[in-house]
Amino acid sequence: MVPVKLTAMDYKGRQRRLRDSLVSARLDTLLVTHLPDIRYLSGFTGSAGTLLLTPTKCVLFTDGRYTEQAREEVQGARVVIARKSSIAAAGEWLSNQSRKRRSLVVGIEGEHLSVAQRGMLARCLGHRFRLREAPPLLDNARMVKDEEEISLLRAAVNLGASLFEHAQGAIRPGVKETEVAAEMEYAARRAGAEGMSFETIIASGPRSALPHGRASQAAIPANGFVVCDFGVILAGYCSDMTRTVFVGHPSDEDRRTYAAVREAQQAAVEAVKPGVGVSEVDKAARKCLNNNGMGRFFTHSTGHGVGLEIHEPPRIAAGQKEVLRPGMVITIEPGVYLTGSGGVRIEDMVVVTENGCEVLTPISKELITF
Ligand code: ZN
Ligand code: ZN
Repeated sequence: MVPVKLTAMDYKGRQRRLRDSLVSARLDTLLVTHLPDIRYLSGFTGSAGTLLLTPTKCVLFTDGRYTEQAREEVQGARVVIARKSSIAAAGEWLSNQSRKRRSLVVGIEGEHLSVAQRGMLARCLGHRFRLREAPPLLDNARMVKDEEEISLLRAAVNLGASLFEHAQGAIRPGVKETEVAAEMEYAARRAGAEGMSFETIIASGPRSALPHGRASQAAIPANGFVVCDFGVILAGYCSDMTRTVFVGHPSDEDRRTYAAVREAQQAAVEAVKPGVGVSEVDKAARKCLNNNGMGRFFTHSTGHGVGLEIHEPPRIAAGQKEVLRPGMVITIEPGVYLTGSGGVRIEDMVVVTENGCEVLTPISKELITF
């Protein structure tokens, strides 16, 4: 089921690349506290830990609950089981290791360390150390997926896509949205998913105009769109896709709305290639909807990166500076939301290739009616 298993070499390669970026960021050491980052660098999937990356060592600090698990999972890093908080243990270890150093700059993940944790770390380290918010080194590293990650994402996407059939089997007038979600989530677990990558969105009738309409107790009406947005986690990697179906008989206007979103989605997919700014991809979708007079109903950004987390950089939106590179995996998901009547969104995951992109989501985008 899981296509690849990472080795110590893979993790060491990632650590080495990160060390190179530490040098250019003028940091002596990086203290990693964001769990997906820790997983990326060491394979550890526990819910508590701190990882230190020094110029020569990579050490994971966790607590007694994870002794066995860390031994099984962690590769390319030393494991220290701490009796206290893993951050305090990391601070003391670093302080002991660097006794001869007169000063040391420790990079921290500013978005993932609380003020209290920072204070505790500073006390453990003492006055020789300076804490500095690191630039987004891990975001940058994780943005471009390696071959193993693309295989894992492909497997997650395929498992996720298989749930659409279960959605279609459950959708009919009178059925609660939560029942449809339940069928899909049960099938996901049966197929080996670790969980859903976010709360399943089944938004029917007027609720389909809510871009984030989580499955509710509302019954699917006899006539209207149903937005199905869902994903699974497999071997840590997330999938994300949206299809919108129609229950009953779509009017000409409903068909026009669907066709406009589909066209915009296709235009954005076609814009994806290396060297293109993410804002250009967003613009391609928006321009298309503007031409069809629906631009003002497209109220969110065009997409986002996906990997160990469901929402990762880059954001595919106006004003974003990131430029697409081979190996980036992003979603393309324009939508149109007509308050009080209904909405349409179509979402695929795509991987940027050397000369364009490959759509990973293997499901047709023709309008399905029930
Ligand atoms: Zn989605
Ligand atoms: Zn998405």
